[in-house]
Amino acid sequence: MKIYNFAAGPAMMPESVMKKAQQEFCAYQDSGSGIMELSHRGKYFKPVIEAAEANVRKLLNLSDDFAVIFVQGGASMQFAMIPMNLLNGGTADFIDTGVWSSKACKEAKLFGAANVAASSKETKYDHIPARGEWKLTPGAAYLHITSNNTIAGTQYHELPDAPAGVPLIADMSSDIMSRQFDAGKFGLIYAGAQKNLGPSGMALVVIRKELAARTNVEKVPTMLRYATYIDEGSMFNTPPTFGIYMFKLVSDWLIEQGGIAGIEQINNAKAAKLYDFIDSSSFYTCPAAKADRSRMNVVFRTPSDELDAKFVAEARAAGLAELKGHRLVGGCRASIYNAMPMEGIVALIDFMKKFEMANR
Ligand SMILES: *Cc1c(COP(=O)(O)O)cnc(C)c1O
Repeated sequence: MKIYNFAAGPAMMPESVMKKAQQEFCAYQDSGSGIMELSHRGKYFKPVIEAAEANVRKLLNLSDDFAVIFVQGGASMQFAMIPMNLLNGGTADFIDTGVWSSKACKEAKLFGAANVAASSKETKYDHIPARGEWKLTPGAAYLHITSNNTIAGTQYHELPDAPAGVPLIADMSSDIMSRQFDAGKFGLIYAGAQKNLGPSGMALVVIRKELAARTNVEKVPTMLRYATYIDEGSMFNTPPTFGIYMFKLVSDWLIEQGGIAGIEQINNAKAAKLYDFIDSSSFYTCPAAKADRSRMNVVFRTPSDELDAKFVAEARAAGLAELKGHRLVGGCRASIYNAMPMEGIVALIDFMKKFEMANR
């Protein structure tokens, strides 16, 4: 039976990528070794990491003002690494739109002042606070947003601007490379790889080179400085070679799909189809405010917790895996990142209709 995997992360990857990786796992090109067995400084791996970086530059249309680096520790380590390098006794502003934003803010407090400039916590993170309501700190060290809220199922449909001179930083773990945006207005963008970029174990970080110069080198350990990664091409020590290799394959695939412009059209069509169905039903509801609904993580509920559990179990048996909502919020969630084909959405809606008929 064909399984569609709706996991939030680690999430499904394109089938062609998985097949290629399977082939090269045991024998990479003419090396006589598997891709994971090859030296990160050898002649086989070097072109892999170079192509991975070039793909990021191409897909995000980056100028030379930006560095592209691969860092272990996932997005969560960036929660600490950002203030450790960039706060320097200043105040960072956070827009609190969910669990991940508040975790990022909590880590920043270890290194200085973190101001919650706006929050939707009181309404269970069901929306993105309007830009006009943000209480920003004049001259903040940076402004941090979470572009897509993986757990609450909300997303900035328009990415905000920071005040002049304040670097805008975004955790894009769950929507990076899913839609076009102007990277030029950011100081730093980061994303754990396991949602839209490849397997878990690393973060992609895009940072304005001039920002990396802010780090106090007397206080920040070598491995936690952005400049170390920039200066050494992400190879100060042994990088996560398998993650970088897989990301290279995923980004090659993305370019074949017509780049981000191409995948964005498909993503919009997928999300619209699923939300239209949910809105047309009196059985399923969506807790996220309509204007801010995520096109990557579609959060929904049946009329009761018991039916939610039944839905998740029966969907699994029908070949639709990992539809359980995050443990903190319950309900159901369909994560529909770049690799989820439209066929998966069609199969899910088909099942949702049958489940509604049988249980309403
Ligand atoms: C998954 C996720 C994280 C955590 O990523 P790790 O790589 O596990 O640290 C952080 N932020 C967002 C928005 C996420 O979706």
